[in-house]
Amino acid sequence: MSRISKVLIANRGEIAARVMRTARRLGLGTVAVYSDADAKALHVASADQAVHIGPAPARESYLVIDKIIAAAKATGADAIHPGYGFLSENASFADAVVAAGLIFIGPPASAIRAMGGKSEAKALMETAGVPLVPGYHGEDQDDALLAGEAARIGFPVLIKASAGGGGKGMKVASSAEEFLAALASAKREAKASFGDDRVLIEKYLARPRHVEIQVFADSHGNCVYLFERDCSIQRRHQKVVEEAPAPGMDPVIRARMGEAAVAAAKAIGYVGAGTVEFLLDTDGSFYFMEMNTRLQVEHPVTEKITGQDLVEWQLRVAAGETLPLTQEQLTINGHAIEVRLYAEDPVKGFLPQTGTLAHLRFPEQGEHVRVDTGVRSGDAISIFYDPMIAKLIVWDKDRDSAVRRLEKALAETEVAGLNANVPFLSAVAGHPGFLAADLDTRFIERYEADLL
Ligand code: ADP
Repeated sequence: MSRISKVLIANRGEIAARVMRTARRLGLGTVAVYSDADAKALHVASADQAVHIGPAPARESYLVIDKIIAAAKATGADAIHPGYGFLSENASFADAVVAAGLIFIGPPASAIRAMGGKSEAKALMETAGVPLVPGYHGEDQDDALLAGEAARIGFPVLIKASAGGGGKGMKVASSAEEFLAALASAKREAKASFGDDRVLIEKYLARPRHVEIQVFADSHGNCVYLFERDCSIQRRHQKVVEEAPAPGMDPVIRARMGEAAVAAAKAIGYVGAGTVEFLLDTDGSFYFMEMNTRLQVEHPVTEKITGQDLVEWQLRVAAGETLPLTQEQLTINGHAIEVRLYAEDPVKGFLPQTGTLAHLRFPEQGEHVRVDTGVRSGDAISIFYDPMIAKLIVWDKDRDSAVRRLEKALAETEVAGLNANVPFLSAVAGHPGFLAADLDTRFIERYEADLL
């Protein structure tokens, strides 16, 4: 890895600690950045060097491009890993890193921009021959025209904020009568959340699964897919459980989705780790939703079934090496499941919890159990950042055994001092519908009464 000797991680929490683990194993130096709230955080303690970058609110610290680049310069880091969230999909940040003579461990800024807007990304994908949900993603935003498009697509339709993310600004309209009110409310929410009220309209699928493909490209024109993750178990369009491979996946459909994802990546000159998200319908049709141009939260399940370290792949690709493996060399081994452990109260509408983690105990780690966390007993969960405590990842030779491992791992997890979603996750893991892999994006809604 001759071009990289020291990496600055422009992030916090579990992902910062996780990136450092691989960097250290590869013999690279590590630099943490931290806000006032994180002076004693695990990611700071894990790094060789650490630079204070400002007050607790992210917009005064983790989101300030100049401070992060200055920290890299001051410590002699030659590359920056953005993690996920924060600046990871900010094309101006990628540009600024390169302009400062540093390596951005992520795709070219042009690829981030190409996938940045949902409508623009869909238009690009259409040209690349990647299947899209029947819909409208044009520039003309006249209400009457949109109503006409909705009727053409056929109800029910889903109205989405073109600039959207995190499930915000999405509204279902079941009929022409409902359409204009739903449109007005989607536009209002889009304007408030993203400062942009443009929308797109899609056919609303009744029971889709969220299946996403991990892709990887190097700077020499090679691109592979590392199979799929099923992230159908969601609450308000936010992932709760992720697994790989997708239960019951037909190998022919897997290959088709993989090839479509590679075509998507190639169409935008992609380099590095990316995820192409699809909706998989009950009849086996699949449709492009969006591409995430970063390492995903749920990347560990892919690592467990492929035996690969995706951060190592990112570092090698960023240093100009070719991909470690070809498509033919990649295989799926066993089954992995990840759950996101949150400081939240499922009984009170999943309200985020803040306070001190008076006591924290995780299951013992080994071949079957992995815990990625950024906190220890005594640490605080603050209002400033995402209240994720840890990711629990289990692996076994098949899905049934992996589900049993998950139930056991959750039973061995203890959180005290604030409410966490451990009982909720245990209820999901032990639910007959989950064991039967009766998965679609409305799983939690359907079984809510059993789960809370
Ligand atoms: P965001 O960027 O806000 O997360 P996405 O477009 O990625 O929005 O969609 C988030 C989730 O919404 C998907 O995982 C899926 O559960 C649901 N969804 C999106 N599009 C459709 C659709 N056309 N029909 C049914 N559900 C959908």
